[in-house]
Amino acid sequence: MDFALTEEQRMAQDLFRAFAEKEVAPLAEHTDRAEEPPMGLLRKAAAEGFLGATLPEEYGGAGMDMLTYTLLAENLARHCLSTAVMLGIHTMLSAMTILDGGTSAQKQACLPRMAGGELGTFALTEPEAGSDPGSIQTTAVRENGHYRLDGVKTWVTNAGLAGVHVVVALTEPGARHKGLSAFIVDAGTPGLTLGQREPTLGLRGMDIRPIYFENCRVPAENLLGQLNGGWSLVLRAFGRVRLSLAAAGLGAAEGALDLGIKFAVERRQFGVPIGQKQAIQNYVADCAVDIEALRRLVQYTAWLADTGQDYGASSSMAKYLAGRVARDAANKMLQVHGGYGFSDEYAISRFHRDVRALRLLGGSDEIQRYAVARGLFDAHGLQIQP
Ligand SMILES: Cc1cc2nc3c(=O)[nH]c(=O)nc-3n(C[C@H](O)[C@H](O)[C@H](O)COP(=O)(O)OP(=O)(O)OC[C@H]3O[C@@H](n4cnc5c(N)ncnc54)[C@H](O)[C@@H]3O)c2cc1C
Repeated sequence: MDFALTEEQRMAQDLFRAFAEKEVAPLAEHTDRAEEPPMGLLRKAAAEGFLGATLPEEYGGAGMDMLTYTLLAENLARHCLSTAVMLGIHTMLSAMTILDGGTSAQKQACLPRMAGGELGTFALTEPEAGSDPGSIQTTAVRENGHYRLDGVKTWVTNAGLAGVHVVVALTEPGARHKGLSAFIVDAGTPGLTLGQREPTLGLRGMDIRPIYFENCRVPAENLLGQLNGGWSLVLRAFGRVRLSLAAAGLGAAEGALDLGIKFAVERRQFGVPIGQKQAIQNYVADCAVDIEALRRLVQYTAWLADTGQDYGASSSMAKYLAGRVARDAANKMLQVHGGYGFSDEYAISRFHRDVRALRLLGGSDEIQRYAVARGLFDAHGLQIQP
C-alpha cells in the first residue's frame, strides 16, 4: 500500500496551491459579497487547463486523472467553495458526460470550447423531481429531424453563464428512469429561456437559475448517448460529481481550519492567545482528525476511479462524510472566532454558509445514505427502495 502522490501529482498540487493562493483567495470575499461569478478567474483557470481538467488532450483537455482533479477541487475550495463547485459541475457533470456518451462529432463540437472557457451545465432537477429523477416531466418528442423539448429545469448551476447545456428529458413517458435521455442544447437555442437567479444562503458566487423549455427544437443529432439510455449517463455523472464535491468539502474544511488557527494565534484573552486554551485546542485537533480521515476516503475513491473499479458507493460515502466534516469544521472554527465569527467581516461566516450546500447538491445526505445502505442490503438479498 502506497499513500504517496506521484511526482507528477505533487507538481500539480503545487501548481494548484499557488494558483489558488494567487488568484482565488484575493477574490473570494468579493465573489460572495457582490454575488458575482468569478468569470475573470475562470478565464485564467481555463488558460491553465483547469476547465478541461480531466478531458483528453485531443479535445483541448489537460488529461488529469481523478486523483489529480480532487487536488484541484480541494485547493480551490480551500479559499472559495463557489469557484470549486462551479468548476465541478462544469467538468464532472457537463463536459465529462459529453465525453462519456458523445459521438466523435459531438465531442469535437463541444469539448474544445468547454476546455477553452465556455461553461457547461447539467440540467436534471425539476420542481417535482429532485431526489427522484424518475419523476422528470420535461419531455423530448421526436419530430422529423429534431426533438422538441418542453418543461422546466430548476437549480441549474452556471445556467446564466453557460454556452452548453446537458439536459435530461423524458423520451418515453411512463417508463421513469428507463425513459430518460440526455441532450446537448446550445445556449442560444430558440425556445430556451433563463429564469431569475436563485437567491441563496451561500455559494453566492454561483449563477443558479431555472431554465424553461417551450417548443425548443434541438437537432436529432444532439441526442447524447442512447435513446432512453440517459439514466446510465446520470449515474456515472453522479459518481464523478460526488467525488469532486467530497474533494471540495475537504478543501473547505481545511480552509475553515486555517482561519480558526490563525484567529486562535492572534486573539488574546486572559493575557494569552486563545490557542493556549485546551477547549480551543480540542476544536482544532478534532477538525484535523476529521480532515485526515476524509482525505483518505477521497483519495481511495479517486484511486478506485483511476484504476477502473466501481467507485459509486465509495463516492457517496465520501460526499456524505465531506458534508459533515466541512459543516463541523466551519461550525467549530466559527466558535473559535467568538462573536467575530458571526460577523460578515470574517471569512469564517462565509464558509459556514457555503458548506451547508454540500449536504444537498449532488444528492442529499439522505440519498447518499440510501445509496450506501442499498449496497449493504443487496449483499444480503434485500432490495431496498429510496
Ligand atoms: C447549490 C445547489 C446547486 C445545485 N445545482 C444543480 C445543478 O446544477 N443541476 C441540477 O440538476 N440540480 C442541481 N441542484 C439540485 C439538487 O440536486 C437537489 O436540490 C437535490 O437533488 C435534492 O432535491 P430537492 O431539492 O428537490 O429535494 P427533495 O427531493 O424534495 O427532498 C427534500 C428532503 O427530503 C429528503 N428525501 C427525499 N426523498 C427521500 C427518500 N427517498 N428517503 C429519505 N429522504 C428523502 C431529501 O433528502 C431532503 O432532505 C442544486 C442544488 C443546490 C442546493
